[in-house]
Amino acid sequence: MSKIVVVGANHAGTSCINAILNNYGTENEVVVFDQNSNISFLGCGMALWIGKQIAGPEGLFYSNKEKLEAAGAKVYMNSPVEHIDYTEKTVTAIVDGQKHVESFDKLILATGSQPIIPPIKGVELVEGTREFEATLENLQFVKLYQNSEQVIEKLKNKDIHRVAVVGAGYIGVELAEAFERLGKEVTLVDVAETCLGGYYDKDFTDLMSKNLADHGIRLAFGQTVQAVEGNGKVERLVTDKETFDVDMVILAVGFRPNTALGNGELELFRNGAFLVNKRQQTSNPDVYAIGDCATVYDNSINDTNYIALATNAVRSGLVAAHNVCGKDLESIGVQGSNGISIYDLKMVSTGLTLEKAKRFGYDAVVTEYADLQKPAFIEHDNYEVKIKIVYDRQTRVVLGCQMASKEDMSMGIHMFSLAIQEKVTIERLALLDIFFLPHFNQPYNYITMAGLLAK
Ligand SMILES: Cc1cc2nc3c(=O)[nH]c(=O)nc-3n(C[C@H](O)[C@H](O)[C@H](O)COP(=O)(O)OP(=O)(O)OC[C@H]3O[C@@H](n4cnc5c(N)ncnc54)[C@H](O)[C@@H]3O)c2cc1C
Repeated sequence: MSKIVVVGANHAGTSCINAILNNYGTENEVVVFDQNSNISFLGCGMALWIGKQIAGPEGLFYSNKEKLEAAGAKVYMNSPVEHIDYTEKTVTAIVDGQKHVESFDKLILATGSQPIIPPIKGVELVEGTREFEATLENLQFVKLYQNSEQVIEKLKNKDIHRVAVVGAGYIGVELAEAFERLGKEVTLVDVAETCLGGYYDKDFTDLMSKNLADHGIRLAFGQTVQAVEGNGKVERLVTDKETFDVDMVILAVGFRPNTALGNGELELFRNGAFLVNKRQQTSNPDVYAIGDCATVYDNSINDTNYIALATNAVRSGLVAAHNVCGKDLESIGVQGSNGISIYDLKMVSTGLTLEKAKRFGYDAVVTEYADLQKPAFIEHDNYEVKIKIVYDRQTRVVLGCQMASKEDMSMGIHMFSLAIQEKVTIERLALLDIFFLPHFNQPYNYITMAGLLAK
């Protein structure tokens, strides 16, 4: 029997703890620490909750201390781990205000990520800590359940009409939609010239930008935020190009891995994430790292990368669970598959965009196609789907795919995820057996057509 200590019990931690206990019973002692009061909050529901597209937050949780303890773990909530001694193999946490030392045989770090704080006036580092705090009322970070609650509470103040969202990644774009749905005047700011730049090429991001602008969201792209100003509360957002009079500012510029507990003793990736092998082991073989605090193996670049997604967190937790219990299991890597649905525009992508593929040194080209999902004689609920497949001109291997439509074509992207993982060539994709039924698609499906048109 070995003693496994898990630090962090959100998506990665919960998946790992459940996999250990469900597959290996009480063969091991599992002790868990989390500094938060809740676990398993689905951040993807934050914008839906704020925008009142769902009734409340209740369904946004799938686990809690009681469920984990019923499965066999000992769980300490509201208990930050402050120090880890990797030589003595002990974890020091604060439990009920008291120092608590726990020994371990194996340690799993699932400490996740924290919002990136841009260097702007209005946000200050709390002395003696690594934490930031907003010095103005109505300046908000977004990560935790509590952050959503704070935003919803503040919005009860009817004086908040104008909201600026800083960061046009998928969280910023979703929140911009949510505030617009509430009737707010919304400005979406990003230093890049587009939204969703990490996931789509410009022809696709232009579709989303138009979608946002058509719904009255003001786009302030290519602007660097310099300060949030006001007298006690937010009054202005100042960029290098403009000043916006606003009542609330949301900072959603991305996340950085939370790896302070590595304490200089574990090897880090270039962005500070714990560097792990395909078994989720860090440079210390008895210490595993999973989820947003760790690296992933990215099949689209055949190399280590950092992709913070709940999907990756859950799978890395499963892999670590088996390895820590003695079953050898390697991660098969990820492709960074993702999706977004804003008003009625759905976009999904996996692998590399053309721009990224070129940046990573591929001789990358694309094949594209756009067609109705179903034959034209289907007159209702039949929308055009735009597809773009990125592949390597020399090896012909598929590197990425992007799709956009009002249609829910999202399941199609999983096939491309597998294609990238398995190094399928564009020619094999063109000959793939894709069924035809008018209720679903066309005899010459847009995937086949894009494949056939590949040069
Ligand atoms: C608004 C929003 C929307 C999102 N939407 C999506 C989506 O649609 N799809 C998707 O795949 N991903 C989405 N994500 C990303 C996803 O939420 C993260 O990838 C996921 O939360 C990572 O899980 P994790 O368990 O690794 O880390 P985290 O969720 O960051 O959890 C880390 C846990 O560790 C605990 N912890 C940290 N330090 C300590 C310490 N010292 N002591 C004790 N406990 C500690 C924390 O309290 C926390 O519970 C979204 C994120 C946000 C914020």
